[in-house]
Amino acid sequence: VFSIQEKDATCRARNGILHLPHGDVSTPVFMPVGTNGPVKTFMPYELKEMDVEIMLSNAYHLYLRPGMEVIEKAGGLHRFAGWDRNILTDSGGFQLFSLSKLNTVLHDGIEFNSHIDGSRHYLTPAAVVDIQRTIGSDIMMVLDHCTAAGSSHKDSVTALETTTRWARESMDHFSRTCDPAIQKIFGIVQGNMYHDLRKRSAEEICEIGFPGIAIGGLSVGESREIFAEILEETTRHLPEEKPRYLMGVGTPRDIFTGVESGIDMFDCVFPTRVARNASVLTLDGRINLRNEQFRFSDEPLDPNCDCHVCSQFSRSYIRHLFKAKEITACRMTSYHNIWFMQKLLENIRTAIGENRLPHYKTDFLKRYNASTGRI
Ligand SMILES: [Zn+2]
Repeated sequence: VFSIQEKDATCRARNGILHLPHGDVSTPVFMPVGTNGPVKTFMPYELKEMDVEIMLSNAYHLYLRPGMEVIEKAGGLHRFAGWDRNILTDSGGFQLFSLSKLNTVLHDGIEFNSHIDGSRHYLTPAAVVDIQRTIGSDIMMVLDHCTAAGSSHKDSVTALETTTRWARESMDHFSRTCDPAIQKIFGIVQGNMYHDLRKRSAEEICEIGFPGIAIGGLSVGESREIFAEILEETTRHLPEEKPRYLMGVGTPRDIFTGVESGIDMFDCVFPTRVARNASVLTLDGRINLRNEQFRFSDEPLDPNCDCHVCSQFSRSYIRHLFKAKEITACRMTSYHNIWFMQKLLENIRTAIGENRLPHYKTDFLKRYNASTGRI
């Protein structure tokens, strides 16, 4: 499923290829998020013209709406959403803990109220595999037990044990009901911000034999130092030859930290979410078009960018569209921001191939952070 092509001799970064049913994916990769199907504001052909090879969708959301009957009738999500490249689905573990009201973790699964209509549901690890089989996910994720930042060691142990038990049940059910040539299932390492628990969770999850391993429960409000430290500690206990996916992480700085620790896959709503708020990623940092200084700016969103939006439109014009509440404004900034991420990852892969990722990181962040309004 995964082959490592080259390694950066100066850090732990590697370039690889994920061999998946809907095409090869060059890693490190950033996966745009299409929670309900589409990456917000995009048509599938627009993602393809910027070489997006895999997108992320969400099993929890699709299960609640439109529901599995609709997806099944449509023949799976690829066909339903008009996307013939790869789809990774998150199991919904994170959403179950962050979105749903009144969730109760039981030994065998989780009971929760829908955040949409309040209806009561019960999901087991096996049911979550069934949902993702119906969706037709190229990569499905196990149901895991997330903990909030700042959870006690004791609570984190309980969640870790549940995560491991559920991961085994997911793998058992997957082996019985899914074709591993068509779909893959990844395990998720938890353990909050505790070194001993990260090590234990990594060992327990890796033992189950998943073809890829994800790291969950990071970038949930912890400091930059703790984030880098826990990431380093966790990846140290993961097998070299399997793809590693850092869930929910996707700012440029965090991607660099991840890649340097040997992470291969990322996803985040960040570039599209901030885009809809007029926030634009540029090599000179993040800018907000609502700012008065761009009222007469004849420059493109990013003078260094060669995307369709930057080659045709000015900051002044797109600022005007935001002011006038034209939805095209969100389309333009979203398009540029995903393009920006695609180029960033492409440059990262090139730098890895030339053994100069740490240099590229320093140069990039120096310039990116030099301006105001950064993240
Ligand atoms: Zn652009």
